[in-house]
Amino acid sequence: MEPHTHFIEQRASLPRNMIENTMFEEEPDVVDLAKDSTAFPALEPDEVVYEPRSSRLLVRGLGENDLDDEEEDYESSARLLGMSFMNRSSTHNSSSSPYNRQAPPRLCSCPSARMLVVGVFILVLVASMAMALYFLPGCTFTKAGCGKANSSIPMEPSYPNSTNGELFPWNELRLPASVRPVNYDLSLTPNLTSMTFTGRTVINMTILHDTKRIVLHSSELIITKATFQDKSVEVKVLEYKPWQQIAVSFLEDLKVGQVCVLTLDYAANLSHTYDGFYNSSYNDKTGAKRVLAATQFEPQAARKAFPCFDEPAFKATFLVRITREPGYITLSNMPQAKTTTLPSGLLEDEFEQTAVNMSTYLVAFIVANFTSITRNVSNTLVSVYSVPEKKEHTHYALDTASTLLHFYNTFFHIDYPLRKLDLVAIPDFLAGAMENWGLITFRETSLLVGNQSSPLDKQLIANVVAHELAHQWFGNLVTMRWWNDLWLNEGFATYWQYTSLMTEFPQLDLDNVFLGVRFKAMAKDSLNSSHPVSVSSQVTTPEQVSEMFDSVTYEKGASLLLMLKTTLPDGQFRKGIIKYLDNYRGSNTVTEDLWNSLTQVGQESVSDMMRTWTLQNGFPLVTVSRKGDIHAHTHSHTLTHTHALSRTRTLMHAHTRSHSHIHTHTFRPTFLCVLLSLWHIPVTYVNDNCSSAPSCRQIFTLRNKTATLNVSDSVKWLKLNYMNTGFYIVHYGDEGWATLIDALKTDINTLTPHDRASLIHNIFALSRLGRVSFRQVLNLLDYTTNETETAPLTEALSQLSSVYRLLDKRQEQRLLARMKVYIWGHFGQLMDSQDWGEEESVSRQELRSVLLEMACSLGRQNCTDQATALYDQWTNSNQTKQIPGDLQQVVFSTAAQADLRWLSLMEAYSSTTYDSEKRKILQALASTQDPRSIVWILSTGLEGGIIQTQELPLVISTVSDGFAGHLLVWDFVKENWDRIIEKFPVGSYPIQSIIKSTTSQFSTQTHLEEVQGFFSSLKERGSQMRSVQESLETIRLNQLWMDRNLPTLRIWL
Ligand SMILES: [Zn+2]
Repeated sequence: MEPHTHFIEQRASLPRNMIENTMFEEEPDVVDLAKDSTAFPALEPDEVVYEPRSSRLLVRGLGENDLDDEEEDYESSARLLGMSFMNRSSTHNSSSSPYNRQAPPRLCSCPSARMLVVGVFILVLVASMAMALYFLPGCTFTKAGCGKANSSIPMEPSYPNSTNGELFPWNELRLPASVRPVNYDLSLTPNLTSMTFTGRTVINMTILHDTKRIVLHSSELIITKATFQDKSVEVKVLEYKPWQQIAVSFLEDLKVGQVCVLTLDYAANLSHTYDGFYNSSYNDKTGAKRVLAATQFEPQAARKAFPCFDEPAFKATFLVRITREPGYITLSNMPQAKTTTLPSGLLEDEFEQTAVNMSTYLVAFIVANFTSITRNVSNTLVSVYSVPEKKEHTHYALDTASTLLHFYNTFFHIDYPLRKLDLVAIPDFLAGAMENWGLITFRETSLLVGNQSSPLDKQLIANVVAHELAHQWFGNLVTMRWWNDLWLNEGFATYWQYTSLMTEFPQLDLDNVFLGVRFKAMAKDSLNSSHPVSVSSQVTTPEQVSEMFDSVTYEKGASLLLMLKTTLPDGQFRKGIIKYLDNYRGSNTVTEDLWNSLTQVGQESVSDMMRTWTLQNGFPLVTVSRKGDIHAHTHSHTLTHTHALSRTRTLMHAHTRSHSHIHTHTFRPTFLCVLLSLWHIPVTYVNDNCSSAPSCRQIFTLRNKTATLNVSDSVKWLKLNYMNTGFYIVHYGDEGWATLIDALKTDINTLTPHDRASLIHNIFALSRLGRVSFRQVLNLLDYTTNETETAPLTEALSQLSSVYRLLDKRQEQRLLARMKVYIWGHFGQLMDSQDWGEEESVSRQELRSVLLEMACSLGRQNCTDQATALYDQWTNSNQTKQIPGDLQQVVFSTAAQADLRWLSLMEAYSSTTYDSEKRKILQALASTQDPRSIVWILSTGLEGGIIQTQELPLVISTVSDGFAGHLLVWDFVKENWDRIIEKFPVGSYPIQSIIKSTTSQFSTQTHLEEVQGFFSSLKERGSQMRSVQESLETIRLNQLWMDRNLPTLRIWL
């Protein structure tokens, strides 16, 4: 899935203070562990549920961790065991409340010595219990289940009441593993007039363990009839609504190996939200309302369309039949097999049975009046569908999809397994796109683009298409076992979207975009409330599952894959990936399976390094201290953040092979917490003798807290993290920074543009850590008067812009004025020299739009005059005189600041059929500083209609950026919270975006308390979301940042 707001968010939220983060820690996790362990219930055979296999591997992994300190080993063991225990007991915990968020895994608690002793004692007890349970014969954490061995611990499970008052025979959110579905036979009859549907689901299944119950998912379906085996024998279906489960109980055991058939007839309303089997509508070119029905099942909404075992590991085959009126078409995952005319005059389309086993969240079907264009690629018929009037906008998507399908087929050595691949633009669709196997659904703005649209608009379409196509392998063919490892789907799809496009469409300039994505991932991951890429703690409730769809899962996941790829010997990454796909095609995996596949094709274990990156949140800061007296550069740096680094370690020396005359650069990675957070960092570096070509890059793995790297006498400086492919930041010390800045001032091309962007990103982050003064940030930025490349300029402007927006919300007028002078001084000339005509290069387009959007939004006369003139030409020519696509946003947003032009834009919004243009106009309308217009646009977005509700998160984030609307929009969200969560589920990406955009620019105690008060009052309607914790943490950090930096800014700016 591709959350749409990915592409519209400003990436430069402030990098956070990683050191300060630990101040929000509460207690060490050994305490939790002890509590959990005493509450651990007895297991009955059916109560063994599918668990992430990582829990087993974690336990097995003890001792393999090469942390070289005994205490650390104990701590890590505690944590690892704790995680595995929490995993097992998680469903038990949640039985007390379906919405109990377990505290995030406390990776970085630093207990006192006494706590440590107590912890170790408890740990030994717990470890013994864990090992005993783990090694009980036949009692693993897998679906193999437990035998009677556990019955020596008597504890009666308590069951909830079904809707009819009888006891429901299951008490876990996860389904029992005793039954496995094999095939679903689905018949659906939607009625697009009454907006209802009826269905019949026939499920063939096998019994894996003797059991007296079949438990599966169903949500908002009214089961009208149920039969088991022989269709004449009706059975009673019990329902437990809070967990969206139904069950059938039997007096006698269903026996292992038995094959069963459960047939369920049901009725339901088509959903009026964006998930399940939902209705959608649009106005055709005559203005008439047309309706359609489509599906969106990921992550857990297949159960709203048909009763099913709605967990990704329950893969099965599907045969789908849909009844329709003539005049509509139907689509599903597979090609159509036949159409039958029913006595009622309706038509029934039957699709081929799926050729592959697949997870329920990938099933899809559509009833609509779409038209398509098609092309054959290898053995696959590729089609792009849209509403008839937008057929002309489908060609670019078809070209891109065809090229990429061929690319992936070749690259992965496994052909796309289906005979057809449809890409469908749905007029009302919340996500950016969804990778349903063979039937990928898109928001119109993510798939349709006019021929004359700018390359920048096409870049967005190519991105989404590349992402969803990659999922056909990563996600569809090989699927994560459970949502805690969602990154195996999304991190990969994100990684491939950039790398496939860089290869096949180099003109789209994706390497700059990918760099920005890595910076964005760090901004989020530096928050204490972030989570590991591979989550070992509880991910159980629907809200927790939804929250997995975030920047860490997608963007940090992709960043880690890039780091790994650039670390391994040439070709090993690709070989390992092919091995992984081959090993697990058609089945489910956990993260460790990926590392094992990569290890199989190389010399060294990949797990040892990668576990340190995927099992803990955050990232390292590597500090370089230069020692030795060559050139009189004698420096010895002492680390100053004492609360986390109170213990010292023996300096470890690692010598590079060929250099004997030395001065030394000592690398000190510093961490959120010294006890637990050690990474294996593949440190890459270049030096002044050879600094920009890829062949200059050297690599050194930093496994311990400290190491020494010896380099030749002639080396004046080192730049670490070549091309910023590693997920860490670097501090060079005062002297080191000064040398690098001098080098850049002498010759800007001594470093690659990505390395220059990396330095800018890192120094802003360090300034926020309090590690360098703001003066040093400005010292580095001085070189930018000679900068003309997109990556470093974009990074500098976005960092400055985020500081500016924060000061703006505090109404620091004098500082704002001085900051403007500073920006004009450094970038004004470049802004004024931009051309406003057509531009071919995507990279130049990106740079031009960033420069001009900042210039016009800060009121630079030259910019606003040009933008207004272009806008007037456009309207006066009745929109026939085109505005270059990359300039549309700045032109529309500038025009929207004047009342009359805002009104004319509103008219243009209603009439345009170009989706990318429409979206830019909407953003411009929302950027107005007129409070009445802001209130109108917010309420219209919530109503739907003129502005579709799917656009509300975009409207809210745009309004939040401006001064006039940032308080209004916060009030709006508070007042309308219940209506908002009706449309966008709690925990979903749009809700995360709404919370972040409305609160992330607050920086006062009053706002902190207000935000805290509001969310805690929501209780089960949202107070437990991770994004709420992130929001509170962000406000606290903004406060700290202001306290620390306002005086400095006043002095230095
Ligand atoms: Zn995706």
